[in-house]
Amino acid sequence: MTTLNTRAVHAGRDDLVELGVHAVPLDLSTTYPSRDSRTEADRLDVLCTGAQVDGPPVYARVGNPTVARFETAMAELEGCEAAVAFASGMAGLSACLLAGVSAGKPHVVAVRPLYGSSDHLIASGLLGNEVTFARPDEVAGAIRDDTGLVIVETPANPTLSETNLRRLSDACGPVPLLADNTFATPALQRPAEHGARIVLHSATKFLGGHGDVLGGVVACDEEYARKLRQLRFLTGATLHPLAGYLLLRGLSTLPLRMRAASETAAELAARLSEHPRVAKVHYPGRNEHRPEKQMTGGGPMLAVEVHGDPHAVIGAVRLFTPAVSLGSVDSLIQHPGSLSHHIMDPADRADGGISEQLLRISVGLEDVEDLWADLDQALGGSSTA
Ligand SMILES: *Cc1c(COP(=O)(O)O)cnc(C)c1O
Repeated sequence: MTTLNTRAVHAGRDDLVELGVHAVPLDLSTTYPSRDSRTEADRLDVLCTGAQVDGPPVYARVGNPTVARFETAMAELEGCEAAVAFASGMAGLSACLLAGVSAGKPHVVAVRPLYGSSDHLIASGLLGNEVTFARPDEVAGAIRDDTGLVIVETPANPTLSETNLRRLSDACGPVPLLADNTFATPALQRPAEHGARIVLHSATKFLGGHGDVLGGVVACDEEYARKLRQLRFLTGATLHPLAGYLLLRGLSTLPLRMRAASETAAELAARLSEHPRVAKVHYPGRNEHRPEKQMTGGGPMLAVEVHGDPHAVIGAVRLFTPAVSLGSVDSLIQHPGSLSHHIMDPADRADGGISEQLLRISVGLEDVEDLWADLDQALGGSSTA
């Protein structure tokens, strides 16, 4: 059995030699011609249920062969039966919420912190769900007869807090556990191995890896995937084929990028913890009680609580890109209270442990010394390191 590093290069491309091509074929068709409309009607009957059939997808909102390659690769890398791609991470989360609501189980139990828009979507009940926010050890007690989903991020956006997925999935019983794996990616953590039935990604981040493609993907079992495909077909939250192409290309360098950026992030976290302007460093590799055998290394994301004005630091960086989002080849820094988590109620931010002094950093592929020099000068240059 080849390793994940190798499969990241080949998954979704295993048939290319037989096809006689090297690059993945990019199919931009919106429709698929056929002279036999009776057979097409039969195939469409099956496709509308979310099941898959051989042959072309009839219409681009039903499916796309380039996107299907990305889905095949993600299912394999996450160790799941299937994966369903969406126009964005939020579209993927919306489909999971609607799956519960439409099955008569509108109640969600969610563990904070979550990405700001995810938290707000769930808390607002915009899609008809109800919610109980709970600490991991309160989840079992929060589950009701009409609970359709338990949601957690680990490491969480933006505080990098980690949750023991095995313990949490045990607490969920028969209720499906959705783990948002955007920060770790399957290169560092595979939540399905620890009991999560649903693995969500904002593919916009590390999977794409270059800040130029918006997408989402949900890895899960085939039964749940059918529900998601049905919802995607009818709500139209499809991933564009070019995005599928770019995401599949991103996967081939994912393990390398995650390893390199993690090494740099660990070093920056260590140096920042000694910096006089830094009150607290949040980094999985430095968390005291880490879930055992869950995540390889600390990952490329970190956060710091600073003394003084956090906005001044954002204004002063010259090499870091001062921007929301994460997971690109360049390093990014942003203030969650103003951007990624701004949409939340301030009280909800506080409930999630998101300080107004917090800055979130996404480490890219630059040299660690150059990044450190920029951070140090942006923090006031008073470091002795
Ligand atoms: C960005 C993000 C999302 C939302 O993804 P989009 O692709 O922006 O819709 C969801 N979860 C986490 C952890 C994220 O960082």
